[in-house]
Formats: sequence, structure tokens, C-alpha cells
Amino acid sequence: MFLEDIDILSMDICVQERDKYIAETRASADLSVVLPYLNAMFPMANYNPNSNSIKFKYGRIDFTLAGDRINLQRFGSRTELMELLDWVRDLINDIHASMDELTPLHTTRKIPPVLTLYSLLPKTNCQKCKEKTCMAFADRLHKLERELSDCPVVNEPEYAGNLAKLEKAFG
Ligand code: SF4
Repeated sequence: MFLEDIDILSMDICVQERDKYIAETRASADLSVVLPYLNAMFPMANYNPNSNSIKFKYGRIDFTLAGDRINLQRFGSRTELMELLDWVRDLINDIHASMDELTPLHTTRKIPPVLTLYSLLPKTNCQKCKEKTCMAFADRLHKLERELSDCPVVNEPEYAGNLAKLEKAFG
């Protein structure tokens, strides 16, 4: 097996959301080889080939991988952390075992400007995404802290054209 273990180095309260936690962990293998495959797999991933690191979101959880480090943000408990580490270990091992059949992406996706994103959102300020305004949501989209699926309105059939443009804007 490529990745046997992931050790928890630290777990602390998240400064931005004090009812959530952050953790730093160390994998038993250098993960660099799988990062371009994760980049291809997660459409909103932020991959940096120069620093050989990637940031992506799984549900509400932010993952950052670099070398043998896996950092997680916004989980709710140690039990959830253990489940997330099992999930990411299985994912990495599945990718590593299937690398011959998968297509990696070695380039960084472009991140559209906030105003471009805002212009394609519904602009209803309905707060269904839990943000105060569509502009605030666009800003968090730009920072890769939210995903298009977090806006239920733009995922309605009426906005299918806007959603397609937003997805294309992220390359
Ligand atoms: S759910 Fe969508 S439409 Fe509503 S405020 Fe958030 S971004 Fe705007």
C-alpha cells in the first residue's frame, strides 16, 4: 500500500469559526506524485506546481496537501477528523493504484476575479448560502472557500446558462 498511516501532529480550535477545529497531520509517504491527479479530480482545487501543494474542499472541509503534510480545516470533532483521515488515505491509495488509467492535471487553474463571479451569480442576496450577499459569496468563491454547489439558486434550471459559464470560468 502506498500510504499506510497518517499521524495527527496537532489539533486546535479554528480561529475563524470557534466551534470548528484545524489539524496538522503527517503522512507516511511523500504525496507529491498524487497531487496532479487530485487537481484533475477536484474542479475547484488550487494546485501550485512550484510549491508542489494543493488545496481543495471536500464538503465543508478544507484540505491542504504538501510533501508528507495533510492539513484540515473546519471539522467538528476528533471523531470526524479520524473519519476524514480514513477517507483521504483511501482516496490517495485508490488514485495511486489507478495512476495508469487516470489523467493528471499539471497546471494551476485560473481563479476568476470576484466581479466576474458576482456578475454570473443570481444577485438575489437570498442568503440561502449562509452569506449576507451574493458579493460576499463571490468573494469566498474566489478564495476557494466556497463551491458553486453551495449556492442552491444558481443550481436551479433557470440559471443553467450562468452555472455553465461559472464552471467554465474556473477552467
Ligand atoms: S444562495 Fe446564491 S443567490 Fe442566494 S445569496 Fe447566496 S450566492 Fe446569492
